[in-house]
Amino acid sequence: MAKYTDPRECDCDGGAEEMPELSDGGDDDDDIDDDDDEEHWQWLEEDSQPVNVTCLFCDRLLSSVPATLQHCMAEHQVSLVDVIRKYNLDDYGYIKMINFIRSTKCDASCLTGLPDAPLPWESEDFLRPVLQDDPLLQTDPEELCGSERLSQLTCPSSGPGSHDALLQRAQAAEERARSSEEALARAMDDLHKLKLLAQGLVLNAETGRSGNLGTVAELREDEDEAYFSSYGHYGIHEEMLKDKVRTESYRDFMYRNPQVFRDKVVLDVGCGTGILSMFAARSGAKKVIAVDQSEIIYQAMDIVRSNQLEDKITLIKGRIEDISLPVEKVDIIISEWMGYFLLFESMLDSVLYAREHYLADTGSVYPDLCNISLAAVGDTEKHQDRIAFWDDVYGFNMACMKKAVVPEAVVEVVKADTLISEPTVIQTIDCNRVCLSELEFASDFCLKITNTTECTAIVGYFDIFFDKGCSNKVMFSTGPQVTKTHWKQTVFLLERPVSVLAGEELQGKITVCKNKKDPRSLLVTFDLRDRKQTYSLQ
Ligand code: SAH
Repeated sequence: MAKYTDPRECDCDGGAEEMPELSDGGDDDDDIDDDDDEEHWQWLEEDSQPVNVTCLFCDRLLSSVPATLQHCMAEHQVSLVDVIRKYNLDDYGYIKMINFIRSTKCDASCLTGLPDAPLPWESEDFLRPVLQDDPLLQTDPEELCGSERLSQLTCPSSGPGSHDALLQRAQAAEERARSSEEALARAMDDLHKLKLLAQGLVLNAETGRSGNLGTVAELREDEDEAYFSSYGHYGIHEEMLKDKVRTESYRDFMYRNPQVFRDKVVLDVGCGTGILSMFAARSGAKKVIAVDQSEIIYQAMDIVRSNQLEDKITLIKGRIEDISLPVEKVDIIISEWMGYFLLFESMLDSVLYAREHYLADTGSVYPDLCNISLAAVGDTEKHQDRIAFWDDVYGFNMACMKKAVVPEAVVEVVKADTLISEPTVIQTIDCNRVCLSELEFASDFCLKITNTTECTAIVGYFDIFFDKGCSNKVMFSTGPQVTKTHWKQTVFLLERPVSVLAGEELQGKITVCKNKKDPRSLLVTFDLRDRKQTYSLQ
């Protein structure tokens, strides 16, 4: 593991502590309502004009809407006003009724004895006028009824007019419904942001009390999405599998120590392609439970079947912190959790979670021991290239850039001949004992200088041991003196080189802690010769 890089483009300052930008209160909607009300009243006040109206039930042409109503009463024994009142028809109901009568050419009797619901003109199709410029459609049913009651039941509308105006009113209503839905969506979004803000505040308050700057177990699933999706791609697994130092060490540990695995129940935390689970199965494990949250586990399922190991290996997709295992306890936990400078990625948190929840009292975690080491580097050429470069860029002074360059630790291969001190171990972790809070630490160190020169950087790396109960112990190092691994080394450049003498002891202090804004990344601070510099590892 360790190739994970955070794909987020920027670490916007403030993070969860900043007040999220919330949507506005939707004042526009109020404006719409005000306008509508105004138009509504204008419409009610407008006088009716003399027109030609075709009767609803026969071909008679009448001179006005009221005359048409009277005609309907006298000739067809239908009171439209009664129908409007009986069914509480609003503007749209009324329009649909008129168009229904005209389009179906129904008899006047069909308006009596209608069911309360559904009315036969409920379809939106009846909003479409049957007659062009139908004066009956340009009439407000409220006006027809002359009643206050209807005004409470009708929607605010935009006044009389042609069929276009009616359509506009329908569209306006649709628009209002749409903007209400949008406002609701914005409000939900705001609520979500506020929830995140509150969670962030609570989390920070808690970590402040315990002195612990957040753990992976506390990371919410969506915050971890980028992390797990980076492991969904085959490329990262290919790189890890091709790292022979890494993969062969795990293989050798398992194949050369079958007594450790025989008839044991093994948990593989973060199984990826399933390689470690298959090593364990081949080494005699009774059962292997392989867990991974990333999509790569679907490949692992195929891989396990292709190798006829499906009876031994059970694969579970999910975060180890979220799932429940099909067994109560396991005898062995294996995991390849190591990140750059060992602790980057904080996946060890997840292994410790698994240890606390699932490991039998007599069980073991492998690898079990890890060292983090430092050494002094004297590489003036590289320092020139990275730092002094900014003093004169095509004749321009860009020295201010150094302030951005220096604090980023660099993951790269350090040439062994640039080492100018003996290495020193600054931290040893026993995975069977360590607790979460110990993964953040400070350590005084002393580097025995071997050359009289300029110290331009400090290099960090780690060593891994498969030790506990092993008759054939296995270890590997990610240091600059041995075969390189995909972890390379981690380089902390000094802004200004420090002069050192062969034989002298360069004293310093290193502090390693999780980045509060992103618990998967690290902040490493060096105190060296009265200078303090913090580096981020992202
Ligand atoms: N064991 C494999 C893969 C190691 S990479 C190998 O040695 O080749 C680490 C894997 O752990 C990734 O696939 C990642 O998705 C998974 N992982 C990290 N944290 C996890 C967690 N909390 N729960 C489940 N899977 C996790």
